[in-house]
Amino acid sequence: MLIVQKYGGSSVANPERIRNVANRIVKARNEGHDLVIVVSAMGDTTDDLISLMKQVSNNPSEREKDMLLSTGEQVSIALLSMAIKDLGCDVVSLTGAQVGIKTTNIHTKAKIASVNEQRLQLELDQGNVVVVAGFQGVDDDNNITTLGRGGSDTTAVALAVALKADLCEIYTDVDGVYTADPRVVPEASKLPSISYDEMLELASLGAQVLHPRSVELAKLYGVTLQVRSSFNFTVGTVVQEGSKMEKDLMVTGVTQDTNTAKIGLFNIPVKKRIAFKIFGALSSANINVDIIVQSAAHNNVKDMSFTIARSDLQKALRIIEWLQPEIGFAGYTHDEDVAKVSIVGAGMISNSGVATMMFEALADNDISIEMITTSEIKVSCIIKDSDAAKAVKVIHEKFQLDQI
Ligand code: ADP
Ligand code: ASP
Ligand code: MG
Repeated sequence: MLIVQKYGGSSVANPERIRNVANRIVKARNEGHDLVIVVSAMGDTTDDLISLMKQVSNNPSEREKDMLLSTGEQVSIALLSMAIKDLGCDVVSLTGAQVGIKTTNIHTKAKIASVNEQRLQLELDQGNVVVVAGFQGVDDDNNITTLGRGGSDTTAVALAVALKADLCEIYTDVDGVYTADPRVVPEASKLPSISYDEMLELASLGAQVLHPRSVELAKLYGVTLQVRSSFNFTVGTVVQEGSKMEKDLMVTGVTQDTNTAKIGLFNIPVKKRIAFKIFGALSSANINVDIIVQSAAHNNVKDMSFTIARSDLQKALRIIEWLQPEIGFAGYTHDEDVAKVSIVGAGMISNSGVATMMFEALADNDISIEMITTSEIKVSCIIKDSDAAKAVKVIHEKFQLDQI
């Protein structure tokens, strides 16, 4: 079989863990599999690089940020390849550019546009295990780009698609996808399988175990994903099309997303094209707007609030300040101390009252809701950041997700 395996930062956090991963890879190789390995930067390396950057510059260019952040993965591919070679196995390490991972030119949030599988195939044909740097690629002008935090998962799925691999295994520090982050809710249950749609919602709403774009690509090309632990050999969670058990559940999982910030605009004159101007300017700056709430017009003015990623807040505020004279709203506020809690489940389609149960759990625990948004298979509430973990726990309990 041709297998793409991805090992996350915690799996290669120190020399001992790198040697552990090397052992697992060589074991799979000795079982006769062709292997492409994608690795993340060691442990907290990417966070450390970001804090280093902040000590040097207040407003670094996005291009140089990518130049810096991509170095973490280059360290881990080299070290892992050395450890594999020491076990007597032929191996070669390759950067994103060397594998021909072409991306869009949106620095720090690039999307993979194509993969040139020739080099990979050549190395596989020569009997090598190929170790590829996750999270990085190059744009059309050969500038190094990165795929957004957690993006190595997406590298793995993209390589699995390009090579038509039989399987894509995501090795991390938990042994599967749980009904909530097991670090927040120790009673959370492991899901034996989950559908692409539900996994995509969970990942997009803050379950960091998989990068949302990796699930999107897997669904698009029908790649079966397996989420497993690199610390043991237990069976993980399979992410694949429609799985019966999840359909019987009203709610499959609860998430929290603390990378959230809220902006409020007051006394916006009621005129044509206002929403287009505000959200057009934000989207031109590659800022994704999430929840939008508008008040009814009163005396020809209205209020509007919306949420964005907290990491985009400073950029968004500069745009809002710049728009104020043109649009003529009276003022604006921002709040970084908010979080989004969400429930996800395909079973919601056929069960009314699911949202009400979530609101009840929050109300019973004195957690006030600032904004609400729903779709067919999810309900999200914006609440105070400091309430997020408690909210996830009480919602998890309300839906008895520890008992599945
Ligand atoms: P890696 O470095 O291997 O990519 P991540 O830290 O990105 O690992 O993702 C794994 C972490 O995701 C786990 O340690 C866990 O705390 C967190 N997590 C959040 N939600 C979930 C969930 N629903 N199921 C499993 N893990 C989750
Ligand atoms: N090293 C990158 C990060 O920390 C990419 C990844 O781990 O997937 O976000
Ligand atoms: Mg990750």
